[in-house]
Amino acid sequence: MQLYADYHTHTLYSHGTGSIRANIEVAIEKGLKEIAISDHGPASRSIGRLGVRDSATLLEVKKEVDKYDRLYPEIKVLAGVEANIISIDGKLDVPEFILKELDKVLVGFHLFIKPASFRDGVEIILNNVIVDKLKINQEQIRYRNTEILINVLNNYDIDIITHPGYRVDIDTKTLAKVAVERGVVLEINSSHGYMTEEYIRMAVEEGAKFTLGSDAHSPEKVGAVEAAMLVAQKVGLTAEDIINVC
Ligand SMILES: [Zn+2]
Ligand SMILES: [Zn+2]
Repeated sequence: MQLYADYHTHTLYSHGTGSIRANIEVAIEKGLKEIAISDHGPASRSIGRLGVRDSATLLEVKKEVDKYDRLYPEIKVLAGVEANIISIDGKLDVPEFILKELDKVLVGFHLFIKPASFRDGVEIILNNVIVDKLKINQEQIRYRNTEILINVLNNYDIDIITHPGYRVDIDTKTLAKVAVERGVVLEINSSHGYMTEEYIRMAVEEGAKFTLGSDAHSPEKVGAVEAAMLVAQKVGLTAEDIINVC
């Protein structure tokens, strides 16, 4: 199997270290035919800002992406986002009218975010960062996390869920089932160590499709999906199961 697209790359617009152009040039060097620029939505933060300045910035990204798409005919350049879940009823940090302008909508269940309200913060951040790690209410938290993700899938048209299960416990079988119904692809993320063979097998049983994502935060990491490819091959996935390999 050979990678032909990387849909998960970050740039200076969020907390990546390189420009859009630098990501594209590495993708071309590595023989990719498609690349998406998918910076973090505006709710990403730790002490400082991690995501794009505001949602409108994604439209600036799109303009730049379109310019490079014309400039580099050898590769298709897509404008995307890795949006954050900011409420338990499944709201994202990017409004729908902006999502509609983008070519790829990725959603990541992140814990370093500014939640929509205090209660959302308790259920999304506190439960996963502290309560779950103390091994309290784990079943309940897993159920709740899964429910939140499913709310997102029902609220928006999404292409990819990034690193499902990373730092946030979910019921993979249930999520995969809904993802299949909604035509959403699950990512096997190459940067975060979290992607067990067991999770992939469970999702395959439900008929899930996958994408291999580099989650590059620097240009040289674009297209670097070796770890994801390895686990995909161990499980016996083929190009039929993975949308960005041939
Ligand atoms: Zn992420
Ligand atoms: Zn990412």
